[in-house]
Amino acid sequence: MCLQKRNSFSAPQRLCGENNLFITSIVNLKNLSNELDQRKAQHLYRFRRISDGPQQPEMIIDGKAVISFCSNDYLGLANHPDVKTAFIDGIQQYGTGSGAAHLINGHSRAHHALEEELAEFTGYPRTLLFSTGYMANLGVVQSLVGKGDSVFEDRLNHASLLDAGLLSGARLMRFLHNETDNLAAKLARRKQGESLVLSDGVFSMDGDIADLPALVRVCNDHDAWLMIDDAHGFGVLGENGRGTMEHYGVSRKDIPVYMATLGKALGTAGAFIAGSNELIDTLIQRARTYIYTTSSPPAVAEATRASLSIIKSQPELRARLQSNIQYFRRCCEQLGICLTDSRTAIQPIIIGDTQTTVAASEQLLAQGIHITAIRPPTVPEGTARLRITLSAAHKLAHIDKLVTALHMLKY
Ligand SMILES: *Cc1c(COP(=O)(O)O)cnc(C)c1O
Repeated sequence: MCLQKRNSFSAPQRLCGENNLFITSIVNLKNLSNELDQRKAQHLYRFRRISDGPQQPEMIIDGKAVISFCSNDYLGLANHPDVKTAFIDGIQQYGTGSGAAHLINGHSRAHHALEEELAEFTGYPRTLLFSTGYMANLGVVQSLVGKGDSVFEDRLNHASLLDAGLLSGARLMRFLHNETDNLAAKLARRKQGESLVLSDGVFSMDGDIADLPALVRVCNDHDAWLMIDDAHGFGVLGENGRGTMEHYGVSRKDIPVYMATLGKALGTAGAFIAGSNELIDTLIQRARTYIYTTSSPPAVAEATRASLSIIKSQPELRARLQSNIQYFRRCCEQLGICLTDSRTAIQPIIIGDTQTTVAASEQLLAQGIHITAIRPPTVPEGTARLRITLSAAHKLAHIDKLVTALHMLKY
């Protein structure tokens, strides 16, 4: 039971804010500083902290030693010796830059081998690499739908999926978070054209898992295509790390478009789309964010192949992450620290007010704990939060320090 009355905001899942959409206020180009000052006054000003050294739990941030709890490096692969060696060997073999787009002469043996290994691992006929997850989402949605079609999105989808829907020219409709009845009602009302349903597999700011079996059922009932963005599930969920589909035992056939990123659990960079031969061939013809950009360095693909091999051969990393999650939740429960129902590595503490959340993040930093405050429009208005993420690389002693600091927080 949660003893503190911290959470005045009770039902974030149902909120329908315009989170993640473009900020609509008009910027006065002759007075940018005015707009910046306004952001500061609203505690919405964004800035970067500078880290020295690798991504790992113990980091130097702005010159100060901290324990970090906001990375998406869920398995500790971003600084893994085997992955680093593969990266360096890849540079020796292929040099640094890829030189051109995939369709010119930038598609290396390393890229191709990684695509084949990802297809084998995910169980799809074929995969296609993109330089970032953001670009993968824009490219796929733009290739598959346009004017006259409809895109249906969970309200808490990642910004890149929402932007993909907006930029595609299709009619964009958003359904209540993880409420497939609401989706079904909207699908039933659509007119002609194709329908594409987009959802995060694991929701990036909440850590809850999409109800995939229900999404599949509704999409089949309404003849809609389903695309799942598994940026936070791939490598982590399921017995073999195959992601949200494996977690539920949902078949590949029911998810015609699967997307996952390589910069999170895999510790490198980039993303891929998995699907049928025809889907991948179509993307190679049509996806502008695939065609008109330089392919990522081949050495990144070599490093990612090493990560994938660790994901396959070391299930103990996923087990350690799971036990860290359970340990953290148990400690919080004992101290009455309010958590959500999330069972994944993403464990948000929803504070609500933006200023209070920023102050809490600063208090934690003063105690050597680094957790960025997540504010609107990344999350809906009134649901600012500390987005805590756990990793297999965290030691129990790190988590003890985190829980103590959270317990001492005053807000
Ligand atoms: C991080 C993320 C992306 C973007 O991936 P990048 O490779 O960082 O561009 C897309 N979707 C979700 C759900 C994400 O969390």
